Amino acid sequence: MTLQMTAVNAGPLTCPKNTLAAFATGEITIPSTVAIFQHPQHGVVLWDTGINDAVADPERAEAYWGAGNKEKFGADHFKRDDAIDRKLDKLGIQPKDVRYVVYSHLHLDHAGGMSYFPNAVHVVQRDEVRNALFPADWTSSVYCGPDLRDIRKLNVLEIDGDFDLFADGTFRLVKSPGHTPGMQMLFVTLPNRGRFILGGDVGHLRDKYNEMIPMPWDWNAAEVNLSRKRVQHWERLGIPLFLCHDPGDFAKLPTDGTHWD
Ligand SMILES: [Zn+2]
Repeated sequence: MTLQMTAVNAGPLTCPKNTLAAFATGEITIPSTVAIFQHPQHGVVLWDTGINDAVADPERAEAYWGAGNKEKFGADHFKRDDAIDRKLDKLGIQPKDVRYVVYSHLHLDHAGGMSYFPNAVHVVQRDEVRNALFPADWTSSVYCGPDLRDIRKLNVLEIDGDFDLFADGTFRLVKSPGHTPGMQMLFVTLPNRGRFILGGDVGHLRDKYNEMIPMPWDWNAAEVNLSRKRVQHWERLGIPLFLCHDPGDFAKLPTDGTHWD
């Protein structure tokens, strides 16, 4: 087997565009992209984990995400089958089979599945762990305490800066602060497809990312600008970038079991 990837939407959200980019108008339904890799030597690797299944349960959503947040973040259409454990099950993958979980950052639409994978190595930037556990007040609602409840028990591989995960060039993590202090992107090299970048939340909506507009919960807009400059340089070199939440970017990815390799 060669290294291959499929993607799933583990967190559909419907929200005003101005929650995703400052001053934008109108409403939009967006995906929360999770990428699932099968690595010939290192097994199943996840890039992000989407939204926790508790949010699909009317009895538990408020307690889990906090009062008013399900409505605020537009998760009314998020269903139990959207959660990453069910998406993996459809692909014949059990949670115990997941060897690595790599996080772009720990917001509630990315770290929701952390507790599903007790046997995995969880790879995250040190600054992100620190910030998620004690965020600045105005971003605190985007970090969900229950998502992170197992973090002290899990095997967390903390990194600080760029990192070649398997020392084989296949997964290169690029620290890209701005949206959060410890945001990172995943620079992937597949044997046939070649290089591309999973950008996490370096931008949310493709047009606003191109215009360099920040989003309201960005931790540091100046750092967002610097991180975008770097990845836009790579795009100009012809390396495709896929934003986690842009519907057009998601539509270009192989999904639900179709693969790139
Ligand atoms: Zn996000």
